[in-house]
Amino acid sequence: SQEKLMQDLMKCINFCAIKHRFQKRKDPEGTPYINHPIGVANILVEEGGITDPDVIMSALLHDTVEDTDTTFDEIEKQFGAKIRGIVCEVTDDKSLPKETRKMMQIEHASVSSYEAKLVKLADKLYNLRDLQRATPLGWSEQRVNEYYAWASKVVEGLRGTNEPLENELDKILAMKK
Ligand code: NDP
Ligand code: ZN
Repeated sequence: SQEKLMQDLMKCINFCAIKHRFQKRKDPEGTPYINHPIGVANILVEEGGITDPDVIMSALLHDTVEDTDTTFDEIEKQFGAKIRGIVCEVTDDKSLPKETRKMMQIEHASVSSYEAKLVKLADKLYNLRDLQRATPLGWSEQRVNEYYAWASKVVEGLRGTNEPLENELDKILAMKK
């Protein structure tokens, strides 16, 4: 029902805000981290035309396990097995070295579920726009260029999922070529 949906959504936004409460983005202003997951969910609704609550709540939760003390069991208990599965698909294995994690994102993109591909597309779009808006503290131009190159490889594996999001990504990626 509409009431249940609104309850679930607000519970999810509140959960994410609490989990990310001490974190900031890498931009020079140190924007509150929660702006990112909310922005990713908003891209999916506003630009991707996505209204599946499992996808939107997974987008809100997508960095909680990777970047906070949140566990997959906690996500399943609070939001169910479907959302746990999507969040699991978009979470890097933090026990691996960063270079390996970056390679695995490229490898895993094309074999992800439709729902995970949507979250990955919106996440990359948000981060590339963020990079375009302001260079993170301490990042060289080369590092920015490397991020674009890596992101474009991940996006290659996500194609055929959502036209508007892919078109927006193409616009941003074309500017760096
Ligand atoms: P990343 O290069 O992965 O940082 C980018 C990530 O930071 C994004 O994917 C995003 O992830 C998050 N983020 C937070 N704030 C912003 C923002 N304002 N704009 C864009 N993204 C933001 O950094 P790591 O330290 O995790 O990875 C290190 C990797 O970087 C190494 O593997 C190496 O390849 C490379 N590197 C290159 C250097 C160079 O000079 N060329 C130097 C050091 C490292 P999320 O969605 O999770 O928030
Ligand atoms: Zn993210």
